[in-house]
Amino acid sequence: MLDADFFRRWMTVAAASVDREAERLTALDSAIGDADHGSNLQRGFTAVRATLEKESPETPGQVLTLAGRQLISTVGGASGPLYGTLLRRAGKALGDAAEVDEAQLAEALRAGVDGVMALGGAAPGDKTMIDALAPAVDALPDGFAAARAAAEEGAVATTPLQARKGRASYLGERSIGHQDPGATSSALLIAALQEAASG
Ligand code: ADP
Ligand code: MG
Ligand code: MG
Repeated sequence: MLDADFFRRWMTVAAASVDREAERLTALDSAIGDADHGSNLQRGFTAVRATLEKESPETPGQVLTLAGRQLISTVGGASGPLYGTLLRRAGKALGDAAEVDEAQLAEALRAGVDGVMALGGAAPGDKTMIDALAPAVDALPDGFAAARAAAEEGAVATTPLQARKGRASYLGERSIGHQDPGATSSALLIAALQEAASG
């Protein structure tokens, strides 16, 4: 079973990996965006880490809801409301249970991804974070390692695609040949889930 500590660990590991990869995320965003994805997420996850320490939420649902709210209020880019929606929707789906199992987590993240697609209007293949998140959620019933592999594969597979949503879509065909920054950070988020489970 997964308790609030597990979800706190997930967010802490995600924050550390965003810190570690911030330059790479920004470099990807400089090729097809406005060169701020790494700093956007660094600011957001630093705020998430601080809030989780200060407010010590007691259930998995509270951890994700609080984290999502922080991302929405501190990330000044498209990715903030989108990641915020992912976590808030997932948190809401977990309700006020003290512990949840992997199947409930998979269902909650599915609700979160549906929320991101509804908010941003992106479908798989549009070269966005959805291209990592959707396959990860599909693979989650097979375990965290499978979800991580699917997310990483999905992120890499955005390279030959033409962007149809977000800033990169303004580039038209010139967006082809670059890995999507948001799909890349989504793969980090899913990898953090596996790291939180094994640590
Ligand atoms: P901004 O584009 O406002 O500077 P970021 O650089 O932080 O925001 O995030 C860009 C990432 O957000 C993109 O690489 C893409 O993965 C994701 N993104 C942008 N628009 C959408 C959308 N409508 N739906 C899903 N993801 C999106
Ligand atoms: Mg950007
Ligand atoms: Mg921006």
